[in-house]
Amino acid sequence: MPEPVIRIEDVSFSYGDVPALEHVSLEIHEREFVALVGPNGGGKSTLLRILLGLLRPDSGRVTLLGRRPEEGRRHVGYVPQSLHFDRDFPLRVRDMVLMGRLGVSRRLIGHSPEDRRRAMDAMEQTEIAHLADRQIGTLSGGQFQRAVIARALVSDPKVLILDEPTANIDQRSESDIFELFRELNEHMTILVVSHDIGFISRYVDRVACLNRTLICHETREVDRKVLEKLYGMPVREIAHRH
Ligand code: ADP
Ligand code: MG
Repeated sequence: MPEPVIRIEDVSFSYGDVPALEHVSLEIHEREFVALVGPNGGGKSTLLRILLGLLRPDSGRVTLLGRRPEEGRRHVGYVPQSLHFDRDFPLRVRDMVLMGRLGVSRRLIGHSPEDRRRAMDAMEQTEIAHLADRQIGTLSGGQFQRAVIARALVSDPKVLILDEPTANIDQRSESDIFELFRELNEHMTILVVSHDIGFISRYVDRVACLNRTLICHETREVDRKVLEKLYGMPVREIAHRH
């Protein structure tokens, strides 16, 4: 077996004395498309922050592309949960996407032609090239989310990690964005956090269920019993709530 792209080994983490993760282990291999699901407060965002080296686990080990998270994350495109971007800030789409080059470009000031070319590629890939000169405040929710994804793609990542990227957008745009992920998955490993298990299982290879501990990491089907254990309520209600 080749070294997994993401290796989480027996990770535990608490915020002060509030435990968020207990003995979580998960491996994700190259070109897998995995969904991380679970109830609010289940530790999904915390696990991603540990994976990216933004938080240190209390115990356990994490590697990203076989390296320490701080090193591996240079090859990761990350879309944090509900980006609280001031959408009234006067910023064009192309400039927001270019901000994704900050970590990779050698330049301290300004952007190289290479940066601009990459930004255009990322906007084409996410089908927002025609919006390049629009102010971000004028975009629909779905278009804005595509711009955020373009910004994560512009550094040419090997791995894409997204925290509830479709939380506040309509079902139609959500499906379109997951079609995009499916295309990107042809050459990228993808880990996406979602609430909507029913919807997401149509797209991903595997679902990992997290509620402080990792309850399952099944291929394709997550069975009813596991879901009820995870959410502590009947599946009908889960579907209703999410
Ligand atoms: P999820 O993303 O699955 O909703 P989180 O990882 O955000 O879950 O939260 C897991 C647990 O950690 C929750 O109990 C939450 O209240 C707590 N938590 C999250 N962030 C912080 C923080 N910065 N300080 C203290 N507690 C936090
Ligand atoms: Mg979260």
